Amino acid sequence: MKRGRARLIDLKGRGLDALLVSDISSIRYLSGFTGSSAFVVITQDRRFFLTDTRYATQARGELFKGFQIKIYRKNGLEEVIRLLEAIQAEAVGFEGDCLSYDSFKKLDGALKGVKLASAPELVRGLRKIKDADEVGRVRESIRILDLGFKEAQRCIRAGAVEKEVAFSIETAFIRHGADCPAFDTIIASGFRSALPHGKASGKKIKNGEFVVVDMGARLDGYNSDETRTYCVGRAGPRQKKIYQTVLDAQQRAIDSIRPGVAASAVDAAARGHIKKAGYGRFFGHALGHGVGIDVHEAPTLSPFSKDVLEAGMVVTVEPGVYIPGEGGVRIEDMILVTEGGAEVLTKTPKGLVCL
Ligand code: ZN
Ligand code: ZN
Repeated sequence: MKRGRARLIDLKGRGLDALLVSDISSIRYLSGFTGSSAFVVITQDRRFFLTDTRYATQARGELFKGFQIKIYRKNGLEEVIRLLEAIQAEAVGFEGDCLSYDSFKKLDGALKGVKLASAPELVRGLRKIKDADEVGRVRESIRILDLGFKEAQRCIRAGAVEKEVAFSIETAFIRHGADCPAFDTIIASGFRSALPHGKASGKKIKNGEFVVVDMGARLDGYNSDETRTYCVGRAGPRQKKIYQTVLDAQQRAIDSIRPGVAASAVDAAARGHIKKAGYGRFFGHALGHGVGIDVHEAPTLSPFSKDVLEAGMVVTVEPGVYIPGEGGVRIEDMILVTEGGAEVLTKTPKGLVCL
């Protein structure tokens, strides 16, 4: 049984004597539990795992070493309150961006004299840096994802329906061993390729259109996320220019990645290039995000990000140009920040492919 990661949480440094974890992805990260309903409470030297009767057997099989398991029949939060009273916690951290307002009110009302402090960064901060085991799982998930792009190239042609292409790809994911797609597969053709999140619709793909394919596979709790944009038939000069602009912007951003670099500077490397080419107002979203147990997690690569890159982070770099009513291009890869710089994990080639 694995030791788990709860011991790495710095409660003292934050002035806390307990941390209540309610984000189910963080619970999985700390405890190994793969179910959908639980709480974790961490103190300086103890770890508690609380879940309901449905998960009693599963939890005993999955949990990392060192957790004391409590099974509740009625209300999880009441069990959490009883536990925090029993361990006489005086300052308790919680994930303010995840615990509901009603749950917070209940805790605050019941725990008289206890200081409650929002500290979502305690686990989120650990999750930003992937250990070797996590990087291995991400690589496996990407291996399946890259096979999915082979399927995409096989299916995309004039006359194909977006949803049917998505179905073929998602079937290929499962056939190659994925647990499920990481999110709703995006197949966005023609004018729909200008929608940054145009999930597959009933639209027929036509000749001369861009097709944005943004998808991911999930395996063993870890996700992958990659985008390629194809052209159906022959690409026109304007399409080639847009494609090349996005590709060059992405390469500039990837080249700037190494430990110690501000995430906002990586964003600027791509955004500056797109601006210079005259497409600045057609690139609105952030450049990238961390990927792990959640498809979108810390750090964020955007103009407003305060994150600084560190070895072990796995991030996407995904610039795009979207011209409303006309079409769009996005190219996305997953990058592992290494001691020496960056390793591109996603392997599907990204020169303009016309299908
Ligand atoms: Zn994506
Ligand atoms: Zn992404």
